[in-house]
Amino acid sequence: MYEAMRARFGDRHWWPADRAAPPDRKALEICVGAILTQNTAWTNVEKAIANLRAAGALDVGALAALPAPALAELIRPAGYFNVKAKRLKNFIARVHDYRGGDILAFLGRSVDTLREDLLAVSGIGAETADSIILYAAGKLSFVVDAYTCRILRRHKLIGPDDDYTSVQELLAGSLPKDVALWNDYHAQIVETGKHYCRPTARCPGCPLEGFPHDPQADKEP
Ligand code: SF4
Repeated sequence: MYEAMRARFGDRHWWPADRAAPPDRKALEICVGAILTQNTAWTNVEKAIANLRAAGALDVGALAALPAPALAELIRPAGYFNVKAKRLKNFIARVHDYRGGDILAFLGRSVDTLREDLLAVSGIGAETADSIILYAAGKLSFVVDAYTCRILRRHKLIGPDDDYTSVQELLAGSLPKDVALWNDYHAQIVETGKHYCRPTARCPGCPLEGFPHDPQADKEP
């Protein structure tokens, strides 16, 4: 299924952070994007990140010093800006408390330690934590999102009782332990979900059309 999606969409080069930025700045930008992208389109996140960059606020110290209302104003394009400002402040406080805000050291810990620490931050759930671990830290933690569950359910690879953890275990246990693969795999799923596996499936022309599927499988009986 991965090969079929990749043949259609090519390498997605996800996560779309500023590749010319120094590693710590790039890692921070990915973390900020992962928090801001909850419940909004990526294009809105890009506008919020551009505002932060223009204000010189894409920096752990600057974000820690920025009052929440001013931060909310900068990230307004991402929607739910007051809530997201609080989440960002919570995350930044955590990073700031760890070795004086050394984000690369914060991200450099083991997956289990890092994941536990991220999930302890108010407002960071499993999908955001795993996005940060996979894309900012470059470590193995498969990102499961609504598209993943919908596609797997419609292809009868998971059942109605599967939850985030069981879906993640299925994927992590089935795929080679390859960060680049997991990185691009999630991006391919997002692309397939965005264009084809929408609430009402558009199977004709979908790269996964040749695999056994039932577009009604996720509907209530
Ligand atoms: S749109 Fe159809 S073929 Fe494509 S992933 Fe969804 S159920 Fe499968």
